[in-house]
Amino acid sequence: MNLRIPGPIPVPEDILREMSKPMINHRGPEYKDLLFGAAERLKRVFETEGDVWIITGSGTAAMEAAVVNTLSPGDKVINATIGVFGNRFTDIASAYGADVVTLSFPFGEAIDPDALRAALGDEPDVKAVMVTHNETSTGVANDLETVAGVVKGEFDKLLLVDGISSVASIPISTDAWGLDAVATASQKGWMLPPGLAFLSFSERAWKARAESKMPKFYLDVEQYRKYYEIGQPPYTPSVSLMFALDTALDQLLAEGMGSVYERHAAIGQFTRDGVRSLGLELFARDESYASNTVTAVSIPDGVDAAALVSGLRTEHDVIVSGGQASLSGRIFRIGHMGRTTESDIEETLDAIRQTLPIAGFSR
Ligand code: PMP
Repeated sequence: MNLRIPGPIPVPEDILREMSKPMINHRGPEYKDLLFGAAERLKRVFETEGDVWIITGSGTAAMEAAVVNTLSPGDKVINATIGVFGNRFTDIASAYGADVVTLSFPFGEAIDPDALRAALGDEPDVKAVMVTHNETSTGVANDLETVAGVVKGEFDKLLLVDGISSVASIPISTDAWGLDAVATASQKGWMLPPGLAFLSFSERAWKARAESKMPKFYLDVEQYRKYYEIGQPPYTPSVSLMFALDTALDQLLAEGMGSVYERHAAIGQFTRDGVRSLGLELFARDESYASNTVTAVSIPDGVDAAALVSGLRTEHDVIVSGGQASLSGRIFRIGHMGRTTESDIEETLDAIRQTLPIAGFSR
């Protein structure tokens, strides 16, 4: 099977094998070494001297942790969203009683820093800004460094980031850019099965934690901090995924994050060039902000998106994703995180070339 959805991604055999190791005492010395070793190396990937917490849960748990640990009901926040996952930040913060000003950009476009600047100028009492680094639903990556320059550099607001499909795949510099909380998840560029979420947490985020009044229990970072001091997780961790994480981090850092980022940029470009050579168009309005972890392709007029996606699966064993929410039937998406090779993409493109006419495509 050629699994080309934007997460979960194919997990290398040697990492998968780690998960068959026998259990250990999660409150014993071996786990302490595992936890400390993982946390130290996670910090290197996030490029932070601050904390990175390991949460057993999916990426949404880390998004929710970023919100409930820094905000109080009634706090005004701006959510700059460019897609379906961006909208989730509004849903989470609203569920906990924040007063969310949703700044929506058209799907297929990136955040316009001038519009964000204007919104921040109009709302002086905003406490925090929430943004998605890489919007998996539209295949668009925001220029997070520039966005952070506006939020932190010009307005000095708390900045909460969904880096679920970006961290470990495309460059991110948590401390240098002033990102206060960055959420990510194991089933993406980390080359792991789903089930772990990671959350960076800055000094400034800790100050916000001290004042925050949103309810929290499982996701309370204070519990993670207290237990970390004695080398333990607050709750029973996914020991098997921690074994796998240990190996995945070794592999990422042995290769070097610079090389990992270059590989993703190269395979992203290779995929986009290939898609265009089939006579298809990228959904990203401008290639300068097209994502290097997932390519969203517009469904041409007359093509049945569901027939395309199911034809790829049944005839070629190539698994791609359709569009979500309002994008259903309008796009399909090809994931290329982790160790995606040119031959994985060539096989995908070849299958698309053969299936398109069956799904109604005529050039
Ligand atoms: N945000 C982004 C950008 C994502 O790609 C995803 C998962 N596709 C999520 C949030 C939600 O993460 P999860 O499904 O792991 O909770």
